[in-house]
Amino acid sequence: MNKMLNHPEIDRFADLIDSSSRIILTCHVRPDGDAIGSTLGLMHILRALGKDAYVVIPDQAPRSLAFLPGFNSLCVFTRHEDYCRRLIDSSDLILCCDFNKLSRQDRLGSVVGEAKCRKVLIDHHLDPDHFCDITFSYPDMSSTCELVFRIIAAMGLYSEMSVQAATCILTGIITDTRNFSVNCKNPDIYEVLMRLLEKGCDKTKIVKEALETHSLSSVKLHAYAISNKMELLERHHLAVVTLDKDELKRFDYERGDTEGLVNEPLSIRGVVASFFLREDEDCIKVSARSIDNYPVSKVCEDLYGGGGHLQAAGGEYVGSLDDCRRILLEEIHNYDKYLPPHVDKIS
Ligand code: 5GP
Ligand code: MN
Repeated sequence: MNKMLNHPEIDRFADLIDSSSRIILTCHVRPDGDAIGSTLGLMHILRALGKDAYVVIPDQAPRSLAFLPGFNSLCVFTRHEDYCRRLIDSSDLILCCDFNKLSRQDRLGSVVGEAKCRKVLIDHHLDPDHFCDITFSYPDMSSTCELVFRIIAAMGLYSEMSVQAATCILTGIITDTRNFSVNCKNPDIYEVLMRLLEKGCDKTKIVKEALETHSLSSVKLHAYAISNKMELLERHHLAVVTLDKDELKRFDYERGDTEGLVNEPLSIRGVVASFFLREDEDCIKVSARSIDNYPVSKVCEDLYGGGGHLQAAGGEYVGSLDDCRRILLEEIHNYDKYLPPHVDKIS
């Protein structure tokens, strides 16, 4: 089980945990299943070791993750800023999960950056910044949760993993791989799945709650977006969906309601890349997905200063939704060279 993780820092990480009593787990803004699963999973394991462990997140988590054990204990920076600051100020160690740059934490990033305690990065995004004392960066792993599992196993703590911890960790793997359909080429991931199922996780329930249950208004919003707001650019094998503030309001939009929408155009024959542009309060949130190794991470980085993984990336654009869309349509031809040599016509 430890064969993929041969990190010289495992012992040093174990010593840091041993010598810390209050430990904070934190993740990126607009947290997803991997961000919440990795932090809550570690929280359960650290509490089982007798540590005073808390999860502090930059902003609210989606309702689809409310089934996770410990969800109600999440400390949300945008809601209880003073409390979160006090927790961080009095901590001995901060574990930064599922992000590679402090800017991915919005305002919480400067609080974490300025904290005097030790920090450890546990992440699977490319090119991490070096703001931590120990950096576990494994871009080849399916998810941060897979990495958490491997670190815990390498430290000899598999036996400390409760079904609650295992449920959180498996949720992150399931959401980042969309139930083992993407980012899971390495057969070893199924050995991790087996070890987590042996803890008693209910995989059917995780898939149902985290990926397949939506509110009525959210299902209607998806249908509206695909039938009325999807543009298909035949020549570039591209789909673009935009939703503005008024449309979101009309469908009683709540955080998490558009989760998965960006994947839907990819099921159309001939579509290689899909972009979803959503008008949020403070910016236009860009989400992108692709197949056949078309590098949406590069597009998001070049056009919006974002990033992510080759086939799943995002960014934030400050400006109007129209401009955000226009930039994409004007620049996308520069990336046609990354399209596979033979692609079906969109049909
Ligand atoms: P999502 O589309 O689910 O929000 O994000 C997909 C992937 O892109 C995730 O791996 C996430 O970490 C990354 N990502 C999303 N938004 C941003 C962003 O604003 N900046 C960067 N650097 N990565 C992002
Ligand atoms: Mn992730």
